[in-house]
Amino acid sequence: MLRDCLHLFFPRICPACNGALQHHERIICFTCRSTLPKTGYHLQPDNPIARLFWGRIPIHTAASCYFFKKSGKVQQLLHELKYGNQPEIGDEIGELYGSDLIHAPLFADANFIVPVPLHAARLAARGYNQSETFAIGLARGMRNSALNDLLIRNLHTESQTRKSRFARWQNVQEAYSVDRPERLQNKHIILVDDVITTGATIEACAKRLFEAGAAKITIASIAAPVM
Ligand SMILES: [Zn+2]
Repeated sequence: MLRDCLHLFFPRICPACNGALQHHERIICFTCRSTLPKTGYHLQPDNPIARLFWGRIPIHTAASCYFFKKSGKVQQLLHELKYGNQPEIGDEIGELYGSDLIHAPLFADANFIVPVPLHAARLAARGYNQSETFAIGLARGMRNSALNDLLIRNLHTESQTRKSRFARWQNVQEAYSVDRPERLQNKHIILVDDVITTGATIEACAKRLFEAGAAKITIASIAAPVM
């Protein structure tokens, strides 16, 4: 009752469509849940995101929950997750996607889930790592666990904006390291990020994980463009 009254004055809003949430809806409204464009790639080993990594890094497969396009609802969700102080969006999509991935043979035998870490300065400004919130929700949905301190973002890498394309790529390649690698020996890891576009970040992280002893790496993200 009190909750319903509060919602009259402070309606909770679906971050994808800006519609008011009903009291039984949480975070993302039912309409968006059933209509946001899912990729279905977790059931297709040779999908376009997996192909993005061919010849670069020998990952097992890759998938993304949603397609995003400019000015679309998924892009708005991602924007709210990153800049709207709404870490629960990542957690929610993670849980939803996890309930799909738990039935996907390509993902089912993973030992644990590892998020791409955020640069310390950005983490301090934002207060959370959006990929980590996604990893935590995914772990819950898959009845698996997230290992948030395995991949470390190195402190010395500086701003990317004024560098050449090659210098930027090289900078990304050197940006990550693995802490206590004994934890990943011969393990199958699901490496997760919020968005996959060029794949450079995932490539750099996967390379470090393989060097440190991972046996198999599978990629999952919240969203990717149609490739
Ligand atoms: Zn909605």
